[in-house]
Amino acid sequence: MPTESTFLLAGLFLLLAAAGWALGRFGERDEVDAPPPLNIDYLKGLNFLLNEQTDQALEHFLKMVRVDAETIETHFALGSLFRRRGEVDRAIRVHQNIIARPDLAAEQRDQALFSLAKDYLSAGLLDRAEKLFVRLSQGSRYQVQALENLCRIFEQERDWAKAIDAGQKLEMLGGRSLALQIAHYHCELAEAAAASGDFGVARDFVKKATAGRPKTMRGALTRAHIAREMDDTKTALRLYHRIIDEHTYLISEALPEIVAIYKKENQIPELERALKSMLKKNPEMNSLVAYTAIVNDIGGISIIDDCVEKYMLDEPTLAEFIDLQSLTEEGKGAHDSALAKVRRALSKLASSTPRYQCQECGFSSQRLLWQCPSCREWETQRPASRVQFDTVLQHSITGP
Ligand SMILES: [Zn+2]
Repeated sequence: MPTESTFLLAGLFLLLAAAGWALGRFGERDEVDAPPPLNIDYLKGLNFLLNEQTDQALEHFLKMVRVDAETIETHFALGSLFRRRGEVDRAIRVHQNIIARPDLAAEQRDQALFSLAKDYLSAGLLDRAEKLFVRLSQGSRYQVQALENLCRIFEQERDWAKAIDAGQKLEMLGGRSLALQIAHYHCELAEAAAASGDFGVARDFVKKATAGRPKTMRGALTRAHIAREMDDTKTALRLYHRIIDEHTYLISEALPEIVAIYKKENQIPELERALKSMLKKNPEMNSLVAYTAIVNDIGGISIIDDCVEKYMLDEPTLAEFIDLQSLTEEGKGAHDSALAKVRRALSKLASSTPRYQCQECGFSSQRLLWQCPSCREWETQRPASRVQFDTVLQHSITGP
């Protein structure tokens, strides 16, 4: 089957043949009646294509059309077309061929190196791409783009120290703040240090993470986790409450921790009081508390159970199926067991649907991801505050 590349190369050979014919036709006016010379090279190229030997045809084209001031743009266009079509090996071959020219102008060499680096990136050859981007970041008109690509590579490689370095250079050159992105790089280092029990180092990274603006609460979450690990429950609770105060949506992360601490300390009345005052200040938090409790299976705390009950009564989809009002008339036992049943069902539904969604691109996941794997933006995910019945229904119609 001839591919688009076959047609593309065939077009190029035909163009060359036409140009050759025009030269032959008009270039030598004395022999105006003589037939144009038919170069055997064009036919050879076309023959490769007719036999579906695209790589041989490409090699033939590269030998035939030398890279010079007149043809270089054709070579670049050919390379980028191959890359866009996913034929990275061919794109690499075209760009390497350009770089091999000894008399290439510096600007064109940089352009070819940048194109080749992007080919390597597309092919997943991160170390080769990194080397070229580092070279371009040290002084070329591709400095900014090279540093942007380096940040992406170091993020993928989880090499946060190098990512910080590239991010800071980019900030200076690009003239825009990357404070949030760089703060998250520091948070990554802090979390890694905390996970290996190196709390002093972790705290230092958190400090660096909270130095810039806009601030991320991720550093505070790490500090709260460290305080909890070190049995400093007072600091941990203060931090978790502050996190919720500043970013309501992080209740999905902080509430299970808060409940666990109060339970461990046998301080359920204190927990009830703290949550009561929080809900009094922000009544709209009710559904977030309820949803977090349902997903994390937090029960037996009356103020949270009240939130869950209110949430279930307010959910129009559920109201279609259960008549809690009539159950209430049948007595507290029937009422509570009906609620418990609905709650268990909701918990199952919630665990089979995505809990977080990126506000930029819509990517969804079960756990909070600080960097969206799809659009690569930082801190754009928000938790759902309701069970997404439409998604559940869609799943059951289309199958898993
Ligand atoms: Zn996204």
